[in-house]
Amino acid sequence: MAANASDKAFIEILVSIAAVIDKHMRSPTMLLDDLETASTPSPYMTTQQKLLDAVANLLPRHPKERIALAVRTDKLQIFITSSDDTCDQRELNAYLSGLWVVLKHVAQFHCAFLFHLRDRQRRLKNAGDTESKIVDEKSDERTAQFAKEGRDLYAKLGELVYTRCRGRLVHEIKRRWNNFQSCLSFLRTKASDMGAEHRATVLQIVDDLAKYLSAILDGKAIQDATGRTLSLYTTIAHIYLWQKKTDFKELVVPLSAEYRNISGFDLCVYLTRVGAINASLEAACISTRQSTIRNLFSREFSITVTPPRYQTPASLPTTSAAWTAFLERYADREDIRFLHPKEIVRLLLEAYPPATSPVPAPARCHSELELFAYLYDEGIAQGMVNPPSGEEEDLYIATSHRPCFACIWYFGVVRWDLFKYRLPELDTRYDYNRSTFPWQIPEGKLESEHYVKYLFKGDLARRLSSRFTEYGIAVAREREIFQIR
Ligand SMILES: [Zn+2]
Repeated sequence: MAANASDKAFIEILVSIAAVIDKHMRSPTMLLDDLETASTPSPYMTTQQKLLDAVANLLPRHPKERIALAVRTDKLQIFITSSDDTCDQRELNAYLSGLWVVLKHVAQFHCAFLFHLRDRQRRLKNAGDTESKIVDEKSDERTAQFAKEGRDLYAKLGELVYTRCRGRLVHEIKRRWNNFQSCLSFLRTKASDMGAEHRATVLQIVDDLAKYLSAILDGKAIQDATGRTLSLYTTIAHIYLWQKKTDFKELVVPLSAEYRNISGFDLCVYLTRVGAINASLEAACISTRQSTIRNLFSREFSITVTPPRYQTPASLPTTSAAWTAFLERYADREDIRFLHPKEIVRLLLEAYPPATSPVPAPARCHSELELFAYLYDEGIAQGMVNPPSGEEEDLYIATSHRPCFACIWYFGVVRWDLFKYRLPELDTRYDYNRSTFPWQIPEGKLESEHYVKYLFKGDLARRLSSRFTEYGIAVAREREIFQIR
């Protein structure tokens, strides 16, 4: 019963309410403010953390799989938690080993290429040729060779990853395929009002976009102007690079913004989502330019896929009276008054219809929380804070998807309480599905040793109250105003 809710039940019920309000009652930005701060890569984010985020994003085999990943650098031990029970350690090991080998080659390639460029520029300078210091594919044969080598490596990397993750790419293209087609029709119509030159440019871009994306969906290969077959990686890179071209920025972007205002479909966001796996690959490759990361790829590593842990979520209220009672008690404690309690209760009953069995079916915590609970229960998290070598190493949990608000707040409390564990700061900003349910608090050693649950309850209640009032779902009680005065 909600009236006697334990801390665990209180937290899970409150998170459910926040999710429903966020989804149905407000613009989808209510909980976003906190997330933006938490998931924008901070300037202090290390190259290794960026790499881990990229790798985590290269692991899910299908769009619904969520991955959390942490690395113990001293032993190069990789811990992976997947939301999917079929995640297999041997298969993952083979895949990651392949990835590691190509990334090692990418690292060596970058090193050699950079050395060549510097050497070449130095020679030109010594020869007194200060005018044409630009070294590129056309002016230098060896540079052209390097460029080809680079393209081949990226194509190889793309093949490795897309063989495993192609379903995700196709899913991203398909999920808003009709909107995409309508957007292209809109662009074509608008182009007909333009001058001949601009019209031709826009129509060309529209046709190319349609051609490229259809080809990816159908699994067809595309050839460039010189007749060379483009790899899947290069094809997607092309689509992605369009957005940076002046014609696209000046002619297509304003039109697509116009279309977004009518239909809610954002072409640039769509293309970014399609290119998300490429972006992670790119980030992984860029990280190899740093020497510490380069060394990482030449070392042996081991993988631990953590065993799935099921736990029983708290029972949510089942009747309108029980939900109302919970809301009233919460509002009372937080000194707020909900403006539309009946509507909130209606949405809650709609979102969480009473379960057929009184005991909810066991479910898993969100992957990042499950991984953290595993690392803590095994004593690994504690060891990583004070490694035997005396070297400072903080625990960083990378995730394949942007974490939900509840996980971010939970990590915030854990970090604040223990001053040790780092909040996952993520580079996977393409997932706006922020409130993923069911959400539950992990039941592990940390919870029994510390007052995290208790602290989290207070923190969550306070933060949500300020959000609810800020967005006009609740107002501060008058007596509170008198107290302030
Ligand atoms: Zn979560």
